[in-house]
Amino acid sequence: MSDQLTTVVTKKKIAMSAPKDDSLTGRKRSRKDRIDIGDEFDDESTPAQDVLEHVAEIPDDVILRQMRLFRDDANPKKVDLGVGAYKDDEGRSLVFGTVRKAEVLLTASHAGPMRIYDELQPRTEATRPKDGLLDKDYPGMRGVGFFLSGAQTLLFGEDHGLHVASVQTVAGSAACRIAFELFLRFLPDMKIFAPNPTWGNHHYLWSETYAYHRGAKLPEYQYINPDTLTLDLEGMTQNLTGLRRGSIVLFHLCGHNPTGVDPNKAQWDAIADVVKERSLVPFIDAAYQGLVSGSTEDDAYFLRKLVEIGVPTIVVAQSFSKNMGLYGERVGALHVVCESEETARKVTSQLKMLTRGIYSMPPIHGARIAGYILSDPTLRMAWEEELRAASLRLWKVRSLLVAELVSMGTPHPLGVDWSVLASHGGMFSYTGLPAEVCYDLREEHSVYMVPATGRLCFCGLNEGNVVYVAEAIDKAVRRHMEI
Ligand code: PLP
Repeated sequence: MSDQLTTVVTKKKIAMSAPKDDSLTGRKRSRKDRIDIGDEFDDESTPAQDVLEHVAEIPDDVILRQMRLFRDDANPKKVDLGVGAYKDDEGRSLVFGTVRKAEVLLTASHAGPMRIYDELQPRTEATRPKDGLLDKDYPGMRGVGFFLSGAQTLLFGEDHGLHVASVQTVAGSAACRIAFELFLRFLPDMKIFAPNPTWGNHHYLWSETYAYHRGAKLPEYQYINPDTLTLDLEGMTQNLTGLRRGSIVLFHLCGHNPTGVDPNKAQWDAIADVVKERSLVPFIDAAYQGLVSGSTEDDAYFLRKLVEIGVPTIVVAQSFSKNMGLYGERVGALHVVCESEETARKVTSQLKMLTRGIYSMPPIHGARIAGYILSDPTLRMAWEEELRAASLRLWKVRSLLVAELVSMGTPHPLGVDWSVLASHGGMFSYTGLPAEVCYDLREEHSVYMVPATGRLCFCGLNEGNVVYVAEAIDKAVRRHMEI
């Protein structure tokens, strides 16, 4: 009987629920209107159909597939060098101490912390719940205000004096997506160029914008030399110089994903000059600020340089997933540096509507945590200290791996020196290992990298497994090269 109820729809039921007039205009609906909204049809019982039957199942993204394989792998020595999430020296997920502290302070029941919160986000009697603790109200269309101020300061420095349009986003991914939507609507004639290679999701987020872009990849500019695994500055600046004035160019602020190759300061200076001379619009993805050099200031070098030389429009997609370990809280922001206050105001109004059209408003919990850390001088200092320690750990395991490979005399398939990996930075490196070697590492040694690109994520490496990983690479490479 209940089956019948869910699978059979009768005219009578629909007719009862359909209003006789238009509730917005009060106008009587004509017979044609009623047919258009589908409330008049065959009196016969209509069996419900599987209307989504034709939907094709698509395979999981490679990294998600690997995560599953890794989870099911019974080898106690397995090592995950695929997923880009920071782990501590024991291979555990890390929650920053400052994040824990901010969370406790924000949710504590005594008056002190709430007084601090009240200073950050003044509340009225009406917005203060009866228990005096945090409300769960909508944050407003731009998101959590004190988070946005802190996020701006982290990127542009204290007292930056810039005209910045900012909205909180659902982490860095949504910041990129909203930026793409902004470009499509307001700079529709301008192409967006991405480094080759770039984070795979940049292409995907782009292809998901307007329907007619589906499947489209962003056009690319030269970034690394795949034979030497180093920056191809000449190829890059040549490509950028050749772009049409006003083109939008995507840069990774630091810790380039997937290669780990970042320009040094002098190289950034040269790139910034091309941006200025060719009137390019830089679109900067800031997902790892502080995790590369250990200093949030040093990691923001390129952005600060662009501001210093007066590049008039700069777009920044900012994520706190990695540098605060707030992966699942989805904390991020999109910032647009504008020429004037008036432009910033207009852009802000559009950004609010773009986010409204996708997810209405961003989540508040993680943004309050991040905003609290960024606004409180003591927490901010302690967080920077934790970041420095995390970055140091990554540098340490990076150099340990290189040292092991060098000491074993492991050949490199491209003939380059393994020490090139030590010139990269952040969580990742393009190792230059071909897919067959990566598959061998996975199948024979339970060492999981990203086979399609040979990307290695250093997060899963630690003093306890680095020798095992180096030996596995040594064996897999020699087997592949038949040495
Ligand atoms: N940009 C780059 C280059 C990334 O590597 C990532 C995450 O891996 C992101 C943006 C955004 O991540 P999330 O959406 O988790 O903030």
